[in-house]
Amino acid sequence: MLTSNLGYPRIGGNRELKKACEQYWSGKTSVKELINAGHSIRQQNWQIQKNAGIDLIPSNDFSFYDQVLDMSLTVGAIPERYHEVILNNKKTELDLYFAMARGYQKEGLDITAMEMTKWFDTNYHYIVPEFHKNQKFKLFSTKVVDEFNEAKYSGFVTKPVIIGAVSYLLLGKEKEAGFDRLDLIKNLLPVYLDVLDRLNDSGVEWVQFDEPFLALDLSDKAKEAFRFVYAEIRKAFPFINITIANYFDCFADNLDLALSLPVNVLHLDLVRCPKQLDDILESDKLSPKTQLSLGLVDGRNVWKNDFENSLALIHKAIRKIGQDRILIAPSCSLLHSPCDLDFETALNPEIKQWLAFAKQKLDEIVTLKQLAVGDQNAAEKLEENRLANTRRSTSDLVHNNKVKERVLAITDKHAQRESEFAIRKKIQHQALNLPLFPTTTIGSFPQTAEVRSWRAKFKKGKLSQQQYDELIARETEETIRFQEQIGIDVLVHGEFERNDMVEYFGEQLEGFAFTKYGWVQSYGSRCVKPPIIFGDVSRPAPMTVKWSSYAQTLTQKLVKGMLTGPVTILQWSFVRNDQPRSQTCTQIALAIRDEVCDLEKANIKVIQIDEPAIREGLPLRKADWQAYLQWAVRAFRIAASAVNDATQIHTHMCYSEFNDIIQNIADMDADVITIECSRSQMELLDAFADFNYPNEIGPGVYDIHSPRVPSKDEMLNLLEKAQAVIPAHQLWVNPDCGLKTRHWEETKKALIEMVSAAREIRQMI
Ligand code: GLN
Ligand code: ZN
Repeated sequence: MLTSNLGYPRIGGNRELKKACEQYWSGKTSVKELINAGHSIRQQNWQIQKNAGIDLIPSNDFSFYDQVLDMSLTVGAIPERYHEVILNNKKTELDLYFAMARGYQKEGLDITAMEMTKWFDTNYHYIVPEFHKNQKFKLFSTKVVDEFNEAKYSGFVTKPVIIGAVSYLLLGKEKEAGFDRLDLIKNLLPVYLDVLDRLNDSGVEWVQFDEPFLALDLSDKAKEAFRFVYAEIRKAFPFINITIANYFDCFADNLDLALSLPVNVLHLDLVRCPKQLDDILESDKLSPKTQLSLGLVDGRNVWKNDFENSLALIHKAIRKIGQDRILIAPSCSLLHSPCDLDFETALNPEIKQWLAFAKQKLDEIVTLKQLAVGDQNAAEKLEENRLANTRRSTSDLVHNNKVKERVLAITDKHAQRESEFAIRKKIQHQALNLPLFPTTTIGSFPQTAEVRSWRAKFKKGKLSQQQYDELIARETEETIRFQEQIGIDVLVHGEFERNDMVEYFGEQLEGFAFTKYGWVQSYGSRCVKPPIIFGDVSRPAPMTVKWSSYAQTLTQKLVKGMLTGPVTILQWSFVRNDQPRSQTCTQIALAIRDEVCDLEKANIKVIQIDEPAIREGLPLRKADWQAYLQWAVRAFRIAASAVNDATQIHTHMCYSEFNDIIQNIADMDADVITIECSRSQMELLDAFADFNYPNEIGPGVYDIHSPRVPSKDEMLNLLEKAQAVIPAHQLWVNPDCGLKTRHWEETKKALIEMVSAAREIRQMI
């Protein structure tokens, strides 16, 4: 029985990678220093894993930006527009690499970055490969081989981890019509064989191909590509131990395919899909030589493993196929886990004993093996584990009967506004007295370095609560005055008091814990620190009423209250694994519901509940979508439905590709939805138009991700496009998203233009 890892966090325990990259990008350090930083993180990671006793330690899991981009460089999938960077400017491979990741605006060149999108259902973003008809590939970067050799010379025998050829193609995008990227498989495979050849020469014994698309619905063509690729690899390299890793969901319909592939090891995610172990062990298609890598330790969450539970699965496998054919592993790469729990000296010790971060998960993997083979030295650890998990399941910190009773008492009435939208619309029209094409913003205004410095000083005790509040109040007042001055119809307070749209709420809710160093890579050098939801969620006191009602006292105009929705809070946190996500989401929904009511009582007549994460929560397989959407939409409705008909509920979503879930978006029944639309030239509105979406919509008229100031005419043009497909009385005018990452200068100019565009279109009617 071997222990194996699929990948280790590469940001470094102290976010060394982030710092090294950002310093290099800003020109403060040399490429040599950056390369050294990468080298030392890799050495450290290999050493940690070796010390823990992991047999199969991964290499090539390190990346300066993203593992998919690494693969594009490996196979030479470098879009035309970057060739100049390297040809004309004599730049290094790393400069080319970062140009692809981040764009290149130097030396008279202005090249856009490659697109970025979410890695399956995680909050990690990868760089999307670009493909063309008849594209040729050739080995460009030898990173896979170099890192294997680097490890070897430092005394670590590693298992290179490579994105499999089929998943690599499926992760990408066709950049022209008239072909299917899977057609490129025959051109691509020789590069994979070339890499394997070189690894073989360097003495590689184990290679892991990540093929997470085996957890999704696959076309026949994709299945055929799998058979082709792995048959060819087997033929060329009969003696390398090949692993195929699938994670984030079951093999399900792809199980027979997976079992038929001529590889040595299949990795299964038994955290997301424990039931598939039976299917596999019972299958007559399981070849008598295939080894199974049991993904038992959760790579996507922070909880201690339940050893008893895992051992039951291991023993089941041993009985059927014997110890020698079993590997013990995390469910997926530990990339998605924070690095090391030992850093968390300020965490409540009762909660801390329930947790395991990446480093601790390695120990769990090794301990599970020791326990499974009957190593007496480990017996104590089983007892310890049982105790910690029992303490967790019975802890007062976790359980709050009042919350549980309240959830049980929810009926359909709680998820239903008093009257239907058509009636509410009339009442709101009278109560709010807004013009056609009302203007508003999505909530945040620029979080300047100054605003952030107040919060930092306040946290360090260098500003008193009163001093901090005064500064925030002044910034809020200025923002209200600015919006009044330029003639915005529904104002916002600006969210200056918030660090982050989830953390701000989590910090005020019971059932949430926060780490100091629990960073997880989101994309490139960007890391996030998700809160940990450990217990029943409740709201001890109002969370936003103070600042919203303060802002409302400053003006005769409407000020919109601003909340984060239950699905988004859930989605961007580490969540409990001792109850279904839907249950936790409902608890959060009740807390937000109370906040909505308190805002209404405080005379706030328009309340926005942001749900940018609804879409990213969709399960990987379509068959599971409706079950998820049902509880997610219901949670939103529970949060939104306790108010009077006259109170207008808004919601906001970014990345608005809603074609396939538009019915569910309509079921949320928000009075107004604001969406991201400008970059697609309003095309994303078509889903709403085709559906005859009945409620009001604010399609974003300018892209807040760029400092560029759009002109009135540009926005007017977009509004005309919107009006061509959605009736005027349903339309609002707003930017694509919050303005917190922008500077005041461009924000002011852009909003002035936006208000003029709205005024102009009103006159055209
Ligand atoms: N109200 C939030 C803001 O304006 C919404 C952010 C988001 O959609 N991600 O910042
Ligand atoms: Zn947004």
